[in-house]
Amino acid sequence: MIVAANWKMNPALDQASVLATALANQSFPQIKRILFAPHPYLVPMSVRLTGTALEIGGQDCHFADHGAFTGDVSAAMLRDCGASLVLLGHSERRAAHGETSDIIAQKITAALAQNLDVMLCVGETKAERDDKKAEQVVIDQLQASIPKHAPPARLMVAYEPVWAIGTGAVASPDDIAAMHDVIASVLAERYGANHVPPILYGGSVNADNAASLFSIPLVSGVLVGGASLDADAFATICAAAQDAA
Ligand code: PEP
Repeated sequence: MIVAANWKMNPALDQASVLATALANQSFPQIKRILFAPHPYLVPMSVRLTGTALEIGGQDCHFADHGAFTGDVSAAMLRDCGASLVLLGHSERRAAHGETSDIIAQKITAALAQNLDVMLCVGETKAERDDKKAEQVVIDQLQASIPKHAPPARLMVAYEPVWAIGTGAVASPDDIAAMHDVIASVLAERYGANHVPPILYGGSVNADNAASLFSIPLVSGVLVGGASLDADAFATICAAAQDAA
């Protein structure tokens, strides 16, 4: 079981330090915990969380190694600042930064070349689900975003329906199970049934609904946005994951 916190562009640095201290004091030895921190916080968070089991990741990286890309960060920079993995293809970046699956594939290649593991986000919009295109959209995202050479042991996939992110509207257990099954089939076709990377669910996960999400087949973890900014809520989610592990 994996529980990943996506702080997005939150919180203020003094609050981040308080939150990191709380995370450092929590112990969930049977699960993997990940913190995707804002880039300027990677160094202070990795210093603060040294010696804990929390893995630290960046929320994006550029596909180039270096160059004239004002405001961007490279995979090597993330690694040098203490990250061991990176979140790529989040729908907020696809929507607000025009990231296509082709760009995301180049970013995955760059991240893997710098020894960063990758959590790839995929998911359909509300309109795509209403049009009954959700499964095809996710299949297309997976096929176009995962480079041919990407080793399964370095990958995680987060299924995040866009309409469920930050809205309080969680996908139904049946829809989550069905989509995780589709994702697992695509990954099994590529890697073989015994090498399917972990598939997480994300979208309005909180302390109240986490336990029920972990009981859904093929849910190997959760990616948590808003609720990860509350140390107690995050601990409750981790405890539910540990119970289900
Ligand atoms: C996310 O940002 O990946 C996310 C799932 O956010 P939230 O938990 O707030 O819906």
